[in-house]
Amino acid sequence: MLRPMLGRMMDFPLSLSHLLERARTQFPRGEIVTRRADRSLVRASYADFHRRALQLAAALVRLGVRPGDRVATLCWNHQQHLEAYFGVPALGAVVHTLNLRLHPSELGYIARHAEDKVVIVDRSLLPLFEQLRADVRSIERVIVVADGGAAPEGTLDYEALIAAEAPLEALPTLDERSAAMICYTSGTTGNPKGVVYSHRSTVLHALVACTTDGIGIGERDVVLPVVPMFHAAAWGLPFAAVATGAKIVMPGPHLDPPSLLELMASEGVTVAAGVPTIWLGILALLDESPTRWDLSRVRNMVIGGSAAPASMIEGFSRRHKLEVLHAWGMTETNPLGTVSRVARALEGASPEAQLAARASQGRAVPFVETRHVGEDGRPLPWDGETMGELEVRGPWVASSYFGDEGADRFTQDGWFKTGDVVTIDAHGYVRITDRAKDVIKSGGEWISSVALENALMSHPAVLEAAVFAARHPKWDERPLAAVVLKGGKTASRDELLAHLGGRFARFWLPDDVLFVEQIPRTSTGKFLKSKLRELYGEHLMKR
Ligand code: AMP
Repeated sequence: MLRPMLGRMMDFPLSLSHLLERARTQFPRGEIVTRRADRSLVRASYADFHRRALQLAAALVRLGVRPGDRVATLCWNHQQHLEAYFGVPALGAVVHTLNLRLHPSELGYIARHAEDKVVIVDRSLLPLFEQLRADVRSIERVIVVADGGAAPEGTLDYEALIAAEAPLEALPTLDERSAAMICYTSGTTGNPKGVVYSHRSTVLHALVACTTDGIGIGERDVVLPVVPMFHAAAWGLPFAAVATGAKIVMPGPHLDPPSLLELMASEGVTVAAGVPTIWLGILALLDESPTRWDLSRVRNMVIGGSAAPASMIEGFSRRHKLEVLHAWGMTETNPLGTVSRVARALEGASPEAQLAARASQGRAVPFVETRHVGEDGRPLPWDGETMGELEVRGPWVASSYFGDEGADRFTQDGWFKTGDVVTIDAHGYVRITDRAKDVIKSGGEWISSVALENALMSHPAVLEAAVFAARHPKWDERPLAAVVLKGGKTASRDELLAHLGGRFARFWLPDDVLFVEQIPRTSTGKFLKSKLRELYGEHLMKR
């Protein structure tokens, strides 16, 4: 790296402690609203949040937590979880968010791997926690967010613990590259791997998320992270919100569409974010009762984690005047990588072309670079047609995993292999056609399951559709569709195939359509195609 002349600017560390301090000095009246398990709403100010986060830090120091130690959370989205997000890194320790949807044996593996020393757990999740506790010897203390109830014997009550402490005063000056958080991937193959976010990566990510062409968040916003705080740091929204002083609304465990819509209306939410399943449920409910909730303040609904179907984006926009912002990211990218807005170059394009752009995974945000490569590892042309594996690099992209596992995901020349198969077009729009492990290769040709799913979900009777590879005696693999119909609606196999006909080459059309009650999902809400293959992979061999 060349350094022909040194800049003479301060080397001021990009640390989360700065954001926490700013919450007190700039936005003491900022608001954090939490829906508790009993559905009541609790309100706190940013001044309260600042004080309590540092009381938590002081309590953890007293319990023997030292810089670098891991403090795990097993919690829904709520104020105390946010306090841990800032209080734990403030003392130089590392927050480790445990995904409460995982199997206890997986959670045990992850907590052992991270060597968690203290665990902060919701009282309602204690039965889950008890199933792994004995397997994780490193755990010394358990702090219970009792939510109005009592913390059981042998545990510490969060509220009583912090009430006894003065806020930690002497915060360490941290190297911005030190770890702030660990999130584990929810990989469906192999063991989960730990991604270690630094203060620097988290701060830079938050700043870019706030930009107008990023997610766009400012002090006047009211942010509702529906995406769990245990899934890639709720996509960094808590950090972006605190950085700007935005009001934060935490849904607690109530993630059903009526509860969310009620919260969006009553708290004046402007930006909400979650996975497509959540929004599909919300769209269905809004279609039934379009005027029941006043959503006039909602400006931006961020959807990511899986592909947002174009029909859903269009349905929100046309029928309810609600704007969807489709975004792509991974646990390994802190997580924001690309967002899909209509580029200036497409302003004069047809509504269909604009919708196609919005339904793509979008263009890379500043400091994230994208390329896609062929099987020989060579970069492919940005022609919107050639498919290859997406690789990314940037200051909030993992450079290795905790414990140096998965080294094969990092290229010699400094890129991270995402495992997503994509095309990239001349404007830089990335379009995911598949996960590499889920691709359908029929007679040697790739078929995009995501494109077929999108088209199926545009049929008025289809709630959800997953297309996956089934074994075939002649073609090796053929696409098969699993479809969930909307309540009270009917559609036949031939009708659905006719709906796809004309849009795709004939050999792309699924060989059959299976009508199912539900599509199996991963702990973060993605279609679990390995399970579909396990259940129905032989379907075409039997015919
Ligand atoms: P996770 O690490 O659990 O966040 O999963 C990351 C993976 O989710 C990516 O590699 C994609 O396969 C998928 N993903 C995330 N966002 C999107 C999106 N907008 N469209 C399609 N797939 C997505």
